[in-house]
Amino acid sequence: MVRENEIRPSEVAIEAPPATDAGLVFIGVIHTPWASRLVTPRQGREDGPVCRLEIFNPWWQALEGVEKIERLEVLYWLHLSRRDLVKQSPASDGTSRGTFALRSPVRPNPIGTSIVSLVGIEGSTLLVRGMDCVDGTPLLDLKPDRTLFKPIAPPQAGDFEVG
Ligand code: SAM
Repeated sequence: MVRENEIRPSEVAIEAPPATDAGLVFIGVIHTPWASRLVTPRQGREDGPVCRLEIFNPWWQALEGVEKIERLEVLYWLHLSRRDLVKQSPASDGTSRGTFALRSPVRPNPIGTSIVSLVGIEGSTLLVRGMDCVDGTPLLDLKPDRTLFKPIAPPQAGDFEVG
C-alpha cells in the first residue's frame, strides 16, 4: 500500500543520525505524469508512460554517446521519503520486515533505481519509459544498464577465488 509519511502498526522508527552532506549533486530533474506518491506506480514498467529526464548544464557534455544505449539505469533521490524506519509494513497488515529486505522508498538514504528504455532525445532531455517517481524528483545519475555490458577482458585464473 502506498504511503505518505505515516507510521503503521508493527513498524519501527529510530532516531536517525543527522543527514550529513555526502556531496551528492543533482544532475537534473525527472518529469513524470504523477503529482503525488499516492498515484505513482510501485515499479516502472516497460510500457509505462514516456517520462522526461531533464539534464542540467554543466552535465550536457556527459550525454555524449547516450543515444546509442537502448536501456539505462536511472538513479534518483526520493526526496519526499522519511528516512528513519528500520521495520516497515508495506501491506499495512500488521506484519513488518526490515528496510534492507524491501525496495520501499523509505530508507536511510532514499535512492531509487529504475531500468528504463530510451525512446527519444530532445536537446538535453531524455525521453524514457519505465519510471516510477513523482514529478519533480531530483536525478542523481545515469548509467548504461549493466546487463548490456560484456567484460572488457576474458575471465582469468583467480578471478573467482575468494580471499
Ligand atoms: N524503482 C525504485 C527502486 O526500486 O529503487 C523505486 C521504487 S519505490 C517502491 C516507488 C514508490 O516510491 C512510488 O510508488 C511512490 O510511492 C514513491 N515515490 C516516488 N517518488 C518519490 C519521491 N520523489 N519521494 C518519495 N517517495 C517517492
